Amino acid sequence: MKVFENRTIVLLSKHGKEKAIQPIMESETGCNFIVENQFDTDTLGTFTREITREKSQLETAREKIKICMDWANSEISIASEGSFGPHPMFPIPWNVEIILLYDKRENYEIFGIYKGPETNFDHIITCDWDEAVKFAQKVGFPEHFLILRPSNDRGKPVIKDIDTIEKFEKAFKKCKTRSLTRNVFIETDMRAHANPTRMKNIELATKDLVKKLNNFCPKCGFYGFVVSDVLKGLPCGLCGLPSDLTKKYIYSCHKCSHKEEEVHPHGEVASPQYCHNCNP
Ligand SMILES: [Zn+2]
Ligand SMILES: [Zn+2]
Repeated sequence: MKVFENRTIVLLSKHGKEKAIQPIMESETGCNFIVENQFDTDTLGTFTREITREKSQLETAREKIKICMDWANSEISIASEGSFGPHPMFPIPWNVEIILLYDKRENYEIFGIYKGPETNFDHIITCDWDEAVKFAQKVGFPEHFLILRPSNDRGKPVIKDIDTIEKFEKAFKKCKTRSLTRNVFIETDMRAHANPTRMKNIELATKDLVKKLNNFCPKCGFYGFVVSDVLKGLPCGLCGLPSDLTKKYIYSCHKCSHKEEEVHPHGEVASPQYCHNCNP
């Protein structure tokens, strides 16, 4: 018997995210999957060009879950939330995708995550059509849609759903005419249905979720036996002082509170390059 056999999961989505989420949830959990696409999730805030912290990303996903429970009276709800921006430390683009699941009957929340540089997230400001076309090629247009505005990131009107070269050229001319500087702001469309790369990352986050769901408590058999605490301080291989690397994972069961430890998940000592003493 699979983890959600004979139970129903509801997803609130209007951007086709079910394409990535539904097949995996159905085959890996045995659930009955329902997509609720009547609610406009964009009212919860659309993408900005700033990366959001994972915490606020989780909060937004929780908001969606609440709405889903009210709207569809769902017992198990699932929500997806992504963020895009520069990596917090390196000059590369960064995408974080969270798939949050809440089981009302068990009052249990669990999430899957993807973090990585696989994204076409980008923009350009130009008045030159050839440069615009080059940018489009670089970001994987037309499979990946574009969004255009006159002048800058606050220009109006915003022209969306650009998925052919004809629409692109027409929108470019229109925005150029409306722009005092003659510049056009072109950006990648990060909505799931408009961005196959993002869809792939949502799929990876969903796979992470089902992997966690299908980890059962060795004592009571409840689903989602996952790491609840990480203990740092793995000793340095050279001087023996504690480093920032993980020493222990602690798994715990939501149902019966059973705990298990995984000692040294990444080796017994830390390389001196992670040691504050040897490599300050
Ligand atoms: Zn248990
Ligand atoms: Zn050391």
